[in-house]
Amino acid sequence: MANVRLDKINRVYNNVTAIEDISFEVPDGEFWVLLGPSGCGKSTILRTIAGLETASSGNLYINNRLMNEVPARQRDVAMVFQNYALYPHMTVAENLAFGLKMRQVQPQMMQEQIHKVARSLSIDHLLNRKPKQLSGGQQQRVALGRAIVREPQVFLLDEPLSNLDAQLRDDTRAELKKLHQRLKITTIYVTHDQTEAMTLADKIVVLDQGKIQQIGEPQTVYAHP
Ligand code: ADP
Ligand code: ADP
Repeated sequence: MANVRLDKINRVYNNVTAIEDISFEVPDGEFWVLLGPSGCGKSTILRTIAGLETASSGNLYINNRLMNEVPARQRDVAMVFQNYALYPHMTVAENLAFGLKMRQVQPQMMQEQIHKVARSLSIDHLLNRKPKQLSGGQQQRVALGRAIVREPQVFLLDEPLSNLDAQLRDDTRAELKKLHQRLKITTIYVTHDQTEAMTLADKIVVLDQGKIQQIGEPQTVYAHP
């Protein structure tokens, strides 16, 4: 687990400011949601934390360590995107194992961790299937599992439910909440969906045109829209 702190982060693309003066600190183990309309800078913030984007100015700390110069693969961060990209030729178990391969985990330990994460996402009966034999919701659960199987310090999710139909979205959202309650990984979740923000967040960061409008608990943010 780790805290994540952004200190006056700016990102400018060819003279256009995508995010401006972004400062907040997510404490260890909390679930924060970045909420705002398309183009307000949510993904840019998330990608900067992951190391997929470089800030134009400002500082990023994970676990109180300055990350500005640390490459993405050396950050203990896992990210899940809207379009869960599973490896089509691999089974669910192999897809989950892929999240661990980089880490040279011993086979016995690997099996234990795969089964643990599969149970916690209710996909343990699907381990021998290929992605095309799964529903969209099941595939996204596998993508979530692959990201967290190595127990990263920080979990980043970019609109992970937006490609699912309404029922699956509700189910997967509930699974995600349970998963967080169990693992308590520091999580930052991007969405434009107020219901998702409301049900998942410890704190909501409301963004508009690259700037923070408000930071608060769901009730507070909704009392004063
Ligand atoms: P989102 O679903 O987050 O709104 P977008 O469709 O805006 O995604 O962006 C998808 C990808 O294109 C991202 O990697 C983003 O960095 C990039 N992108 C977004 N806007 C622009 C732009 N104006 N010029 C170049 N690349 C962009
Ligand atoms: P959101 O995730 O909230 O949809 P983004 O972070 O994708 O917003 O984009 C914020 C702003 O930055 C938008 O105006 C977008 O067009 C711009 N932008 C994002 N990525 C790029 C890029 N690679 N090149 C140029 N502009 C970009």
